[in-house]
Amino acid sequence: MAFRVQIADSGAAFDVAPDETVLAAARRANVALAHDCQLGGCGTCRVKLLAGSVSYAEQPLALTAEEESAGYALCCQAAPISDLVISPAAPQVAFAAPERRTAVIEAVRALSPLVTGLTLQIDGLDAAGFAPGQYMNVVMPDGGTRSFSMASKPDGNRVDFHIRRIDGGEFTHRRVPGLRAGDRLDIEIPHGTFHFRAQDYRPLLMVATGTGLAPIKAILESLMDDPDCPPVSLYWGARTKADLYLHDDIRHWGERLYEFQYCPVLSRADADWDGRGGYVQDAIGAELDDLSEHAIYLCGSPAMIADAKRAFAGRGASLDHIYCEGFTLQNAQSAAA
Ligand SMILES: Cc1cc2nc3c(=O)[nH]c(=O)nc-3n(C[C@H](O)[C@H](O)[C@H](O)COP(=O)(O)OP(=O)(O)OC[C@H]3O[C@@H](n4cnc5c(N)ncnc54)[C@H](O)[C@@H]3O)c2cc1C
Repeated sequence: MAFRVQIADSGAAFDVAPDETVLAAARRANVALAHDCQLGGCGTCRVKLLAGSVSYAEQPLALTAEEESAGYALCCQAAPISDLVISPAAPQVAFAAPERRTAVIEAVRALSPLVTGLTLQIDGLDAAGFAPGQYMNVVMPDGGTRSFSMASKPDGNRVDFHIRRIDGGEFTHRRVPGLRAGDRLDIEIPHGTFHFRAQDYRPLLMVATGTGLAPIKAILESLMDDPDCPPVSLYWGARTKADLYLHDDIRHWGERLYEFQYCPVLSRADADWDGRGGYVQDAIGAELDDLSEHAIYLCGSPAMIADAKRAFAGRGASLDHIYCEGFTLQNAQSAAA
């Protein structure tokens, strides 16, 4: 039996066939609903259920029990079990449409044993070409794509990226080590909806694991020297000290950001580490015991994001003020697309 879905704010409506997800039906009906990974890992397609109920074949990673009981659903995985009225959980923003472009590599440098820094010059890209926080897709010879977040704020046609090696990975292991200045990549840019919400003016808590730092760096660069910059706390989780590939740079960001606090957290610290240890989401200090007034940006492993949402809700964080970018697995993404 088909169910009808109505979008509260726009009045748009569409039917969802049996065994279809809300997102698949919306796309079939040409109704725009924000979405990204389509695997239940990123949370971009979160909506509020104003009426009706949904079920999931498997509980999506990016939807916590707290979110579900507060009436949120993830459209890419949710199948209606009644007619629905939904409302997008976050205001929809009009980003530039993704375009296929050629990128020329300007510089390649090792940032750490596992992370390579790439600077690309992107043909035809201008300063309005992406919002800090968004990502590009590298188009592979087989037509598959690999996503990488812009790690610098818009600045002409030049953009930095932080690429972590995944052992056995087609792009990050087989291709990146051979890249040299002057080489070309086919890319699509921009993608994604992770971005700074200026209208959500609250102290910022930014939490990243590994190269999840990249889009957070782009956002923070865009706030540097801005008189409207809110207070910023950055927690960056990595395994060992060698993985903190921008540690020294970040310690200087406080000169250009308002009330900047930086706390690196190591899950496999060496004996000489005198900073915080454990998982980054568990290491938020007592100084941030009450998160009810913060805007929270989470980026990196989907497991960290799911845990952080649960832990932070316990400290009063509002689900309406948590913004996430999960680095979901690309092979699975290609298979699902
Ligand atoms: C929106 C978004 C933004 C991203 N931004 C960045 C970024 O800025 N920097 C960055 O380093 N990465 C980023 N990633 C992750 C990155 O896209 C993947 O690591 C990349 O696609 C791996 O490609 P590959 O060809 O090397 O590996 P593949 O050949 O695709 O995969 C090889 C094997 O590794 C597994 N695998 C793939 N990716 C990961 C992963 N991330 N973690 C664990 N196992 C994995 C696969 O399932 C497969 O088994 C982002 C991901 C998303 C969804």
